[in-house]
Amino acid sequence: MTSVRSALPSSLGSPAALIDGRVVEAGDEIPVRNPFSDNVIGVTHQATAETVDEAVIAARSGFRAWSAVDVTDRAALLRRTAELLEERGPSIADTVTAEMGMPTTLAVATQQVMPAAVLRSMSAAAERFPWREQIDGATLQRVSAGVVAAITPWNMPVHQIVAKVAAALAAGCSVVLKPAEATPFDAALIRQCFVDAGLPPAAFNIVNGTGPVTGTALAGHPGVAHVSFTGSVGAGKSVAAAAAGSLTRTTLELGGKSPAVVLPDADFERVLPRVLASGLVNTGQACNATTRILAPRAATFTVEAALAQALSGIVVGDPTESSTTHGPLASRRQTERVLEHAALARATGRVVAGTGEQLSIGGSRCFVEPLIVTDLGPDSRTVREEIFGPVLVVQYYDSVAEAIELANDCDYGLSAEVWSASSQHATEVAGLLDVGQVKVNGVKTRERPGVPFGGVKNSGYGRELGATGLAEFTEIKAVMA
Ligand code: NAD
Repeated sequence: MTSVRSALPSSLGSPAALIDGRVVEAGDEIPVRNPFSDNVIGVTHQATAETVDEAVIAARSGFRAWSAVDVTDRAALLRRTAELLEERGPSIADTVTAEMGMPTTLAVATQQVMPAAVLRSMSAAAERFPWREQIDGATLQRVSAGVVAAITPWNMPVHQIVAKVAAALAAGCSVVLKPAEATPFDAALIRQCFVDAGLPPAAFNIVNGTGPVTGTALAGHPGVAHVSFTGSVGAGKSVAAAAAGSLTRTTLELGGKSPAVVLPDADFERVLPRVLASGLVNTGQACNATTRILAPRAATFTVEAALAQALSGIVVGDPTESSTTHGPLASRRQTERVLEHAALARATGRVVAGTGEQLSIGGSRCFVEPLIVTDLGPDSRTVREEIFGPVLVVQYYDSVAEAIELANDCDYGLSAEVWSASSQHATEVAGLLDVGQVKVNGVKTRERPGVPFGGVKNSGYGRELGATGLAEFTEIKAVMA
């Protein structure tokens, strides 16, 4: 086996805040634990409400300067940042692996290559953006909204930061970022790429800390023009409530329970390994993971044999080894939650493949063997709740109409996949699904960095990426002469 690990410092540190380039050291310590080694790899610190206030004040002055910069220069800065992110990508990927256990090969693809593509795509979107339009005798000006508060989770940490920050900066906004407390170190590395590319430090500030303390103070701060949040449904509702106090606009990118609709004419043996890969990506810790597989009942035997065969090919282990396809879950807490869900799934459903049991690998307490279950009612918790781990459900249908009904019988509406021998038929079915994004026959989100991403129902509202994501951070001013 080949290790893809490069050297990280033996202990990482992250201050409570980085405000206009100034390090704020104060605040309670928050240890960050590597879920594979089970060692504390460093500490971050809790920013208080006063520190958040300082950061927003600095970002307001950063906004005045940055919003005056010509859009072609803003776009050029994003391209330079992409180059720096690529140069520093290996150490950024290693940092993410150490923070939350993502296999390094996946970290390179999703935390280095994808964010660089997002930066370039956003740069192009800014240059093509309709900053001025004529409508009914009026000039519509798209103006920069102000200070953007970006609150991000740990599961795809660099991508989620870049998706927000690239759009905000392209729009001429400044940023106060609160990264997840589990992944503070990559956030500082990303910010440094922007600053080294020429961004004035006050345009990108970071406050570290927990959601209830630092996140709430940031979401409710009256100096913020837009809160862009990615995370769980419960935290999203708290963020929206805190922002409502100042009538601050919000974008909420929340969870998912995404269906993969495998139509009767699909080539099951070829398609199901790819469906399984989408469901288990990042050990199931992806908001758009296809955790519900909808398949024709008439093909039960073939479907289950293909899934069992595909599952036997995954390699769970040390995330720094290049042969590892699936690493540990991100934390002990996450592992406990997933184990509980797996036990319930085994007790109430029929096991298709895998066990959902805890695995002992190295010193880690965070490995769970994947599990695929079926024969669960549409109201079972396993079918309805986001598990955010390697537990997949197969739901059988007797007709395509029933497949669509089952797919839409969901509290979430983030993403879906449709698989068919006929892409026209798949596209017709895609049009009937209540979600924000549908991928036909294996298209990957990461291959289309300019396509809007976001959901409906409990998956939230607003969109990220591309011109639509940029527009979220602008206001319309209509000038009638
Ligand atoms: P989380 O909601 O616990 O935390 C996300 C971020 O919000 C963290 O920075 C956290 O500190 C902060 N936070 C928590 N409570 C807060 C509060 N009351 N006020 C302000 N900030 C608060 O989520 P998580 O466990 O880090 O991430 C997993 C969740 O994120 C899953 O539900 C997943 O589906 C979702 N997610 C969604 C998308 C998407 O684009 N739709 C992408 C990735 C993850």
